[in-house]
Amino acid sequence: MAEWRTKVPVPKQLLEPLDLPSVHLFGPGPANPSLRTYNAHAMPLLGHLHPEFCKVMDETKAGLKYVFQTNNAYTLAITGSGHAAMEAAIMNLVERGERILVCVNGLWGNRARDIAERQGCDVQAIEKPPGEYHTYGEIEQGLKDYKPSVLFLVHSESSSGICQPLDGIGALCHRYNCLIIVDTVASLGGTPFFTDDWDLDCVYTGSQKCLGAPPGISPITFSPRAIAKVNSREFKVPSFYLDIKELGNYWGCDEGPRRYQHTGAVSLVYALRESLAQIAEEGLENSWKRHHNTIEHLWAGLEEMGLRMFVKDKAMRLPTVTSIRIPEGFPDWKAVPTYLMKKHKIELVGGLGPTLGKVWRVGFMGHNSSLENVDKFLRLFKEALEAVKNRPK
Ligand code: PMP
Repeated sequence: MAEWRTKVPVPKQLLEPLDLPSVHLFGPGPANPSLRTYNAHAMPLLGHLHPEFCKVMDETKAGLKYVFQTNNAYTLAITGSGHAAMEAAIMNLVERGERILVCVNGLWGNRARDIAERQGCDVQAIEKPPGEYHTYGEIEQGLKDYKPSVLFLVHSESSSGICQPLDGIGALCHRYNCLIIVDTVASLGGTPFFTDDWDLDCVYTGSQKCLGAPPGISPITFSPRAIAKVNSREFKVPSFYLDIKELGNYWGCDEGPRRYQHTGAVSLVYALRESLAQIAEEGLENSWKRHHNTIEHLWAGLEEMGLRMFVKDKAMRLPTVTSIRIPEGFPDWKAVPTYLMKKHKIELVGGLGPTLGKVWRVGFMGHNSSLENVDKFLRLFKEALEAVKNRPK
């Protein structure tokens, strides 16, 4: 019999109680879930194929179709964070060696390029400076020049705060025999978005931002045109876990009986279901309006303080994540988030990728999107700026 004496000792840290601060998550995500969503997450666990849980999955799917504004049968939530949905979108629609054109204007376009390269796609990119969007004409030129099978666009470039206009882009892609993937991780639920009307083939989002659920589960939808492409693939999708046809069967999107594909994130699905229920009760248009009103209140307050936003044109700014320009000559930008967290348990973060050192990023999403939260933030942000400016050298 093997010796029963452990070689690695008991970790002392685990004998301490779990000790966590309660933080206002006013960064670019995750946002604080509501108490109702937290409670849903703690409800009794069921098996991942139990009929009661399949019913919850069906209810979640209905909620996802509502927030995506789609009738796509293949609408579900991937077990994994937004990156898993990015990987899945590209992997299902672009085969090894096939061409994808990525529109890059910040960190997330760059990340898509990296993912597509790792998957062995023939990757081309059209680049714009951070804070600018891709125009209809530039996208058309890219489609003409590169003749890609798939175009990748970020709707909500949370590294800069720009919102990419999409109206007409889906139809444009289809005229050039190209499918379109759109990343809405930092926008879906917070601003008008119409998957079907805009003729988009694959759209994904995160659970932890405007939808107001914890991170780790990522809604995604594939159009019938996208599924036809999957059905006509030469080779199998290289990842079993992220194969949309396998996932779709587990989520009850096809005619077949549900099969075990992986053990779904049961508790996260409960939480997502309840977050979607709160959006359904509020009404999606009201959720969009609330996010817009909240952020306009923020912009007005910041401007009153003499601050400028990274994206100049208000109409092109995300109504979810805002990048505030760090004023010229500001002594120590990192000290501001540190002050807010230490003193007030408020999360504010710096830039990401190309905006690092240029901006602070603040977000009011999902349950956090309220005028009261903005007022609180403005008051304490002002205090933090003064404290850092007046610090003895
Ligand atoms: N895309 C965008 C636009 C995002 O803002 C994020 C998260 N900040 C992601 C993708 C990746 O999501 P996750 O961190 O959940 O993997």
